[in-house]
Amino acid sequence: MAGNWKLNKLVGEAVDTVEALKSLVAGVTDKDIVVCPTFTALQSVGKALEGSNIQLGAQNCYTKESGAFTGEISPQMLKDVGCTWTIIGHSERRQYFGESDELLNEKLKFALASGLKVMFCVGETLEERESGKMNEVLSRQMINGLAGLSTEDFANISVAYEPIWAIGTGVTASPEQAEEAHAFVRGIVADKFGSDVADALRIQYGGSVKPGNAAELMAKPNVDGALVGGAALDAESFAEIVNACA
Ligand code: PEP
Repeated sequence: MAGNWKLNKLVGEAVDTVEALKSLVAGVTDKDIVVCPTFTALQSVGKALEGSNIQLGAQNCYTKESGAFTGEISPQMLKDVGCTWTIIGHSERRQYFGESDELLNEKLKFALASGLKVMFCVGETLEERESGKMNEVLSRQMINGLAGLSTEDFANISVAYEPIWAIGTGVTASPEQAEEAHAFVRGIVADKFGSDVADALRIQYGGSVKPGNAAELMAKPNVDGALVGGAALDAESFAEIVNACA
C-alpha cells in the first residue's frame, strides 16, 4: 500500500503527515506500507519514520551512481536518506518527461542492482483503451521495461497497473476492469519468467483509489495492493485505504 505524494508538501507538512499516519496505521502488521515524498522531504520523513512500520520510497531515480548528470539523483543517494523503495515508470514521467521503455528498463535494473525495491508502473491512455490497444500497450511496457531481469529480481519488484485515464481524474477503473488488466499483466510475467514468479508477484492498482472504493478493488484476486496519489496526501484518508483492505 503505497502513497505517491508527487510534487506536493513542504518538509514540515510532509513530516506532520507521517507523524499522523504513524499512529493511524501502527497496528498494521500484514501489509507493506510505503510513502513516497518529494526528494527534499525524504531525509526528514525518513527520520520521522524510524522505528515505525512505514517504509520510505522515492518517486524516481537515475541510472548512474554519481557524475555529471545535473538535476538527477541516484539510488545510492536515496538509500543514504533511508529509502528502501522507488517508483519507476510513473505515467507522468513517461508523459511529461519523455521517459521511454528503454530508459525505464535501465533505471529499473540499476535501482535493483543498487539494492532498492521498485514499484514499476504501466498503464494505457483512454484513447489506447478505446481503440482496443490496451493489451498491446501493456505488453510493450512490460516486455521492454522488464527486459533482462532475472527471476530473482522479482523478489524486489512490484508492478503497478495505473490506467492513465484514472489517474487524478476521479474516474476509477471498475474492480472488473482492474482485475482484467492485472490478470493480463500477470500472464505476461508468467510467459516470460514462469508461473512461480507470476504467482508471487504483487500487482498494485493505481488510479483514483479512495477510502470508499479501495476495499472492492483490493478484493479482486489479482489486485494485491494500491498505489495512491491524491488520497494519500491526507493521513486519515490514506490510513482508511490501508485499513480498508483485508
Ligand atoms: C498516482 O499518481 O500514482 C495515482 C494513482 O494518482 P491518483 O490516486 O490521484 O489517481
